[in-house]
Amino acid sequence: MKPETQLATGQLPGLERATIHPYVDATPGPFYYQRTAHPVGLEAERVLGELEGGHALLFPSGAGATTALVLALLQPGATVAVADGGYWGTVGLLRGELSRWGLEVVVFDQMGPPPPADLVWLEPCSNPLMSFPDLDPAIADAHAAGARVVVDNTVLSPFLLRPLEHGADFVLHSATKILAGHHDALIGVISCARAEDHARLGAFRVASGIVAAPDPAWLMLRGLKTLPLRVERQSASALELARRLTSHPAVQRVRYPGLDDSIATRYVQAFGPLLSFDVADAEVAERVERSLALIENATSLGGVASTLEARARWEGARVPAGLLRLSVGLEDIDDLWADLTQALDSAARPPGAS
Ligand code: PLP
Repeated sequence: MKPETQLATGQLPGLERATIHPYVDATPGPFYYQRTAHPVGLEAERVLGELEGGHALLFPSGAGATTALVLALLQPGATVAVADGGYWGTVGLLRGELSRWGLEVVVFDQMGPPPPADLVWLEPCSNPLMSFPDLDPAIADAHAAGARVVVDNTVLSPFLLRPLEHGADFVLHSATKILAGHHDALIGVISCARAEDHARLGAFRVASGIVAAPDPAWLMLRGLKTLPLRVERQSASALELARRLTSHPAVQRVRYPGLDDSIATRYVQAFGPLLSFDVADAEVAERVERSLALIENATSLGGVASTLEARARWEGARVPAGLLRLSVGLEDIDDLWADLTQALDSAARPPGAS
């Protein structure tokens, strides 16, 4: 132990050295430097690997995981086919910052066969248009054409869907959402089917520093302990709200695979916390946002608190102008319904009418 460390611990009697310098380990072994590995990260990866049936790696965010996957496993000039109507940030990242890598990005309708590509990006219960691809033939077709497949499983979690069992090569999560589950961590995950991809991605992660810090890894590990309870409750409430919303006069369309999706029901038994529904236009959508009292008007999703957002604000013409995305949390279902109906009723009234 160095003299200054002794001094510090001496000044704070009762505290262990590990408490003051939790990430300093002078002993030879795997934890000599936390960019290389840290105990909480390894434990979180072990648990996730078991949940997914693969080899998991943590990243600082879902977007960081996407960046690492492309830079570590594709060659410059590769073609990526990415599902239309999925997370807009993925398409934006591939077409924007990563275009300097010379990527060819093809956006396709994931309800049909994937186009020729080096990497095919699927997103079941896509955020926010809620499409659910027929995974088995889509993955088989992609493989037959020489592509590898990544499934963004952020919205469902391994509790509902384990894409590696359907032949996917990689599963990606914004663990910021359901896996951590409490709106207090930013973190991402990639699970690999093959040990050699895991090794390649792991080596890239150490060298690039695109690596999750211990604190969010710990928050995610804690969140995982309640994953089944949260997802069951959120899925049941989301299905019930989706059913009720279909008969509200201000709602034109509800998107939730649990309502009527014959493909989704072949793959999952519940459909997760996310649904979206359309009101007349952007103005009505914004009035709904402003009228909510219990449900938070916020971007993040998949956590214990319900959140809602008018997505055209960010995604423009990519989504219907009146589309509202709702992530259902753990609140009482009747409280949620009361909040939604009062917001929809008051938003549907023209401004100034009482
Ligand atoms: N994938 C999906 C489906 C998402 O919803 C998000 C974020 O909203 C991401 C990836 C990116 O994750 P992060 O915000 O953790 O970078």
